[in-house]
Amino acid sequence: MKITYSIVAPIYNEIETLPLLYSRVKEVMDSSGEPWELILVDDGSTDGSTEKIRELAQADKTVRPVIFARNFGHQIAITAGWDYARGDAIVIIDADLQDPPETILELAKKWKEGYEVVYAVRGEREGESWFKLWTASLFYRLIYRITDVKIPVDTGDFRLMDRKVVDVLKKMNERHRFPRGMSAWVGFKQIGVTYKRSARHAGVTKYPFSKMLRLALNAITSFSYFPLQVATFFGFLSAGVSILAIPLVIILRLAGSHFFEGQTTTLISVLFLGGVQLISLGILGEYIGRLYDEAKGRPLYIVRDAPEDQ
Ligand code: UDP
Ligand code: MG
Repeated sequence: MKITYSIVAPIYNEIETLPLLYSRVKEVMDSSGEPWELILVDDGSTDGSTEKIRELAQADKTVRPVIFARNFGHQIAITAGWDYARGDAIVIIDADLQDPPETILELAKKWKEGYEVVYAVRGEREGESWFKLWTASLFYRLIYRITDVKIPVDTGDFRLMDRKVVDVLKKMNERHRFPRGMSAWVGFKQIGVTYKRSARHAGVTKYPFSKMLRLALNAITSFSYFPLQVATFFGFLSAGVSILAIPLVIILRLAGSHFFEGQTTTLISVLFLGGVQLISLGILGEYIGRLYDEAKGRPLYIVRDAPEDQ
C-alpha cells in the first residue's frame, strides 16, 4: 500500500507517554483520510518502552518499530526514521507530546501547497525552566550567526519533509549530525509554521546541559569554520600587539624608564598566550576528532529489530 505520511518519533525512556502519543497521532492522522504509518525508533530505552512499542506494533500494523541495540542519541534516531520511512511526506515529532500531533495537519497543508520542507517554529513554550528557555534562545541565535547556513531560529526537529528532501538527507551520512541544520542546508522550498510548544506530558527531559552543549558543538562544527577562524584572529591580534609593543618597550628602556621591569609582565603575557594556544589546540582537536570518527566509517546505528515488512 502506498503511504502518504510517515510520522517518526524517537523514543528514549518515554513509557508513560507512549500510549497517549499513539492515540493522539492515530486520531489526527486518521482524520487526514490518507494512509500513514508511525515509526517508533527506540533509542536504547531501559524503562520498558521497548516492550510497549512492540505491543503497540502487534496491535496495529500502522506502527512500525525500529529497535536500536543501545542508546545512539536523538539525532541518530531521527536518521533511522528517515531510513525506514516509506511515506511521501516524513514528519519528525518529539515523543513527549511537546510537539502537538494536531500541528501535523497544518504542516501537511503547506506541503500540499507545494512546500518541500515545512518546519514548526516555537512561538510560545510552556512548562520549561527559564534556564532551558534562555540557553535554547542563546543557542538558536548563536548558531544562526556563526554557521554558514541560515538555520531558522526557535525551530527544533519538528517538521515535515517531502520524500525528495529525505532522499537527499539519506545520502548525507555524516556522523555528528544536526538534522535541522542538514534540512536547512539542502535548500528546496521551505516555510515555517508557528505553533505553541506544550509542556512535557510525563517524565523528565533527556537533554541535560551536557547533551545540549554537545549538540551545540556538533551544530557549530558541522556547519562552520568560525572557531578555527577565531584562533587565527587571536594569532594576528597578539602578533600585532607585540609588533607595536616591542619597539615601544625598547624606546622606553633606552629612555631610562623602569616601567617594564620585573617578571609580572612576562608572566601575564606568557599565561595569556599559553591560554590562547591551548584553546586553539582544543578547537583543532574538536575538528580532528570528528575527522577521525568519519574516517572510521562505523555504521551510524545498530538495529536489533527492524520492522518485519522492510
Ligand atoms: N531522545 C532520544 N534519544 C536520546 C535523548 C532523547 O531518542 O538520547 C528523544 C526523546 O525521547 C524525545 C526527543 O528525543 O522524544 C526529545 O527529547 P527531550 O524531550 O528530552 O528534549 P527536550 O524537549 O527537553 O529538549
Ligand atoms: Mg521534550
